[in-house]
Amino acid sequence: VRITVLAGGIGGAKFITGLKLARPDAHITVIGNTADDIWLFGLKICPDLDTLMYTLGGGIATEKGWGRDDESWRIKQELAEYGAEPTWFGLGDLDFATHIYRTSLLTNGLSLTQVTARLCERWQPGVELLPMTDVRVETNVVVDLPGEGVKAIHFQEWWVKHQAKYVAKSITQVGAESATPAPGVIDAIAGADLVLLPPSNPVVSIGAILSVPGIADAIKSTKAPVVGVSPIIGDAPVRGMADACLRAIGVDTTAAAVALHYGSRSNGGLIDAWLMDEVDAASANYLPAAGLKVDVGPLWMTTPATTAEIAKRALRL
Ligand code: GDP
Ligand code: CA
Repeated sequence: VRITVLAGGIGGAKFITGLKLARPDAHITVIGNTADDIWLFGLKICPDLDTLMYTLGGGIATEKGWGRDDESWRIKQELAEYGAEPTWFGLGDLDFATHIYRTSLLTNGLSLTQVTARLCERWQPGVELLPMTDVRVETNVVVDLPGEGVKAIHFQEWWVKHQAKYVAKSITQVGAESATPAPGVIDAIAGADLVLLPPSNPVVSIGAILSVPGIADAIKSTKAPVVGVSPIIGDAPVRGMADACLRAIGVDTTAAAVALHYGSRSNGGLIDAWLMDEVDAASANYLPAAGLKVDVGPLWMTTPATTAEIAKRALRL
């Protein structure tokens, strides 16, 4: 069975860990968000691809959910001695090696798709990991910064440096209009037996992937069923600040509102079915009228085993 998953970082990676346990026989293709990518110190950083690769390959710092296990921070300290900016983005020594190698391969002319495959030869994530595009696309957030006024800043600056404390007036994927899906992305959607939207951020993870022309159309037209898993439980984003992103696009932070935002494929939307948590069961009732199949069950991805149960429920749905 061929399963294609659109994924951000932590939420996507956790879900896919459970999916692999639930269906060890499946060929899983993961289309990773690259709009969080940022160039720092001359290096190309791909936070979501790396979170997927490290998590599925057994090298993640489990407590944090990003970065390497057994990490040390000597390079960061040494950069600070020079007063090098920025200091707000966490890059450990082992992680730096990934970015150095990635950037060197890109400089030698390999595409991000080829580089990602090369990095995965080491990590063996057990899935085919594809960037959404080989073209530079970056999520920008328009904010009113104290003393600086209204300006567009890189998503990472808003999210990591400012912890999303300034209201996002708008969120856009710069470069998306002229981007094309990476090789294999459209085929993975069109040729899938099942397409899954895991509990990833609907705006800056899934939304960013969908901003690449052709990807949303492929999802709308694939013969495979498309099932989404809610990233919102009890009107809260579980962890992180996804509510700040949803507000920017005018979507309520509820499981039902996110489902309706994706919309039913029978009405020109993106999903056929939606899995939501038990605490949100009351609002499940009005989704069938919008053309969506719904199932309700516990959605806390606390352990790989409980996450595998979530994945099984999504597969049944
Ligand atoms: P990021 O790129 O690292 O922010 O990760 P993703 O976009 O893949 O996923 C982030 C989202 O995962 C958050 O906005 C949460 O809504 C969601 N999330 C995190 N933990 C859980 C969980 O245990 N259950 C569910 N249903 N969603 C979760
Ligand atoms: Ca991300």
